[in-house]
Amino acid sequence: MSPLSIGLFGGMFDPIHTGHLRAAKAALDWGLDKVLLLPCGTPAHRPAAQTSADDRLAMCSLAAKGIPGLEASGIDFREGPCYAADTVQLLKKEYPEARFYWILGEDKVDGLSHWYHAEELFKSCEFLVCPRPGCIAAHAPEGAVLHRLNIEGMTDSSGMVKDRLHLLDDAPDLLPKSVAAYIAANGLYQPDYTPELLSRGMKPHRFAHTLGVRSTAVELAALHGENMQKAALAAILHDIAKPLPLEEMRALCAKYHADFSDELLSNGNLLHGPAAALIAQHELGITDPEVLSAIHCHTTGKPGMSRLDMIVFIADAIEPNREPYPGLENLRTLARSDLAAAVLASMRSTRDYVLSRGYPFCSVTDAAMRSLTEKE
Ligand code: FE
Ligand code: FE
Repeated sequence: MSPLSIGLFGGMFDPIHTGHLRAAKAALDWGLDKVLLLPCGTPAHRPAAQTSADDRLAMCSLAAKGIPGLEASGIDFREGPCYAADTVQLLKKEYPEARFYWILGEDKVDGLSHWYHAEELFKSCEFLVCPRPGCIAAHAPEGAVLHRLNIEGMTDSSGMVKDRLHLLDDAPDLLPKSVAAYIAANGLYQPDYTPELLSRGMKPHRFAHTLGVRSTAVELAALHGENMQKAALAAILHDIAKPLPLEEMRALCAKYHADFSDELLSNGNLLHGPAAALIAQHELGITDPEVLSAIHCHTTGKPGMSRLDMIVFIADAIEPNREPYPGLENLRTLARSDLAAAVLASMRSTRDYVLSRGYPFCSVTDAAMRSLTEKE
């Protein structure tokens, strides 16, 4: 029996993208039994990653799912620089009978002879080279065995992916959907809003709720084919004004010349959505109108709600940290199949509750319900 052949694909994978996956698949098609994605902890010659090693490993594992033979491993999470020669020695202990093939880009071939413990490395593995556009084939250094993959050159770079994510784009042509969802649900490659939320008085239970809304909103966006990065951003900021006393919310509205009705201005339960959208826009520099709308109307809804509006509205009501209330499980099920029906059902139960207590019901929500009923 021929020995197990294992391709070793090291890198930052910050984040992993379809270019990496094409190369890994080509290596499997070339005849390898297995390819290991090896995100590194501290790279030897590169700046540190923007995301933690655990996040990069999780993204690699998600990307590998569904590709037979592809796996992710955390073996390169070592203190100090991680060199290929050390990685191969470590893996030899795990797979004593295997033959190893180090996967690398054509642009790296020239420098191979300078790799750490190169001679020892050349004896313990061969090299599978992926072409790079504009990069001519270099000579194999003395003692190294090179094989070239016959695929189109890998152009997609993680930098391009990050640029797209900054624009709140899920980059479906560059990122597997599961990876884009992980990025959104964990707020990766976006500003960390935690200090902002905490410094504005958000208590731990409200922060936990906010994180729950974010993961639920991303899950629903993925299910319903909506933008996950926008859902995540709207969700993380939706309650940023919630800790403020009503007077401060009103002062914000005056400061930013927001012309809200007395009905909104007299009730913090309603006003904290519109006030949060003002903070997002004027103090945090969020410009995306869809995100601002979803933040604004998470308390009241509005006529003609977009699907993103509905996702954030219903995620707020059903996130996992919610104390159980009558109809919660139904709402959770409904939200997965029919967003508008779930939003309408949630508004109906709020209306029943508010009216049963003898309070007036919000006219904006009433109009939102009529608009949703027309669509039914
Ligand atoms: Fe809220
Ligand atoms: Fe909330």
